[in-house]
Amino acid sequence: MHYHIILTKECNLNCNYCGGGSDTPPKEIQYTIPDLKKFLSGDKAPVVEFYGGEPLLRTATMKEIMDSISGRFVIQTNGLLLDKIEPHYLEKFNSILVSIDGGKEVTDRNRGSGVYDKVVRNSKLIRESGFTGDLVARMTVPQGTNIYENVLHLEGIGIFDHIHWQLGFEMFWESWEEETGVEAWISSYNAGISSLVEWWIEEMKSAGRVAGIVPFIGIMNSLLFGAPSRLRCGCGIDFFTVMPDGRISACPVSIDFDFSIAGSIFNDAPQSLCDKVCVVEPCISCNIFTICGGRCLFVNRAQDMLRKNGYFLICSTVRHLVRELEAALPYIREMIDCKVIGRKEFKYPEFNNGCEIIP
Ligand code: SF4
Ligand code: SF4
Repeated sequence: MHYHIILTKECNLNCNYCGGGSDTPPKEIQYTIPDLKKFLSGDKAPVVEFYGGEPLLRTATMKEIMDSISGRFVIQTNGLLLDKIEPHYLEKFNSILVSIDGGKEVTDRNRGSGVYDKVVRNSKLIRESGFTGDLVARMTVPQGTNIYENVLHLEGIGIFDHIHWQLGFEMFWESWEEETGVEAWISSYNAGISSLVEWWIEEMKSAGRVAGIVPFIGIMNSLLFGAPSRLRCGCGIDFFTVMPDGRISACPVSIDFDFSIAGSIFNDAPQSLCDKVCVVEPCISCNIFTICGGRCLFVNRAQDMLRKNGYFLICSTVRHLVRELEAALPYIREMIDCKVIGRKEFKYPEFNNGCEIIP
């Protein structure tokens, strides 16, 4: 199973769409590393993903955990302190997810002046320092982002193995009700997705490679192999978050919501947490539930906090994405049959690495 470990709620950035995240106490870990180790010993193959706040503000704790627990390691970081991880620890990571929203202009506008340059420099540096795992650019996509240009920018700089994104939550909340332009932006976002899928297919044809666009690969994998998917981020299924006080949340983002609390490292065994918190309607009756999986447990269980047409708008992006990929399926099958590309290139991720697949 997969465990987000919130190393601290402190952050060294103050991004527009986040504002520092959850600030409910405690902000720092209250349990001991042996407590965590005891809990994780109930899982033969844990994936430990360091999360925050900004997890690299607590590298000493991170290293202590990496030294005492065997499993796979992932980190989701804003990238500013990546240059502080020694090669010995870098080598232990299977995946590093670096927050970057696209080009310099959009990243610095959302995350702060100078952030883009530092993140790009540090991402190159960890490669030079021996990190050979999966380097993922993890974009947040707030209203107004040109998805086509920004994904292609990250593709073009040639540093990242994969690019993943999530739509910014704020535009769908009730508090955003009075904001204008969300519907128009969703239309332009969907048009950008169509152009990106077109580019993706063209790249397969002309270069014989499957560009690492995570939402496309993940969904195409299901379309090609026909395996039904549950909630793709895995929250509440096999993916949990250890909060600083030792309680366990189904989702790393909804830690302050009662529905999300599944147990604690002191009282519960890993397997006993599974399927306690699940998605509900309208997803279960949806005709694309086995492909979408419900998209996001948090949004699904906090529906009453959404703007009036919030759920409809979110689903319209998922439906559009799935439609575009279904339309591309015959071309991809043909290219696989003609050996232009390989089937195995769609077998991603190898394990749940914290990419939610559905944006
Ligand atoms: S498309 Fe919407 S309703 Fe359907 S499963 Fe996904 S999130 Fe749920
Ligand atoms: S997709 Fe939703 S439920 Fe899953 S990790 Fe992200 S916020 Fe949590």
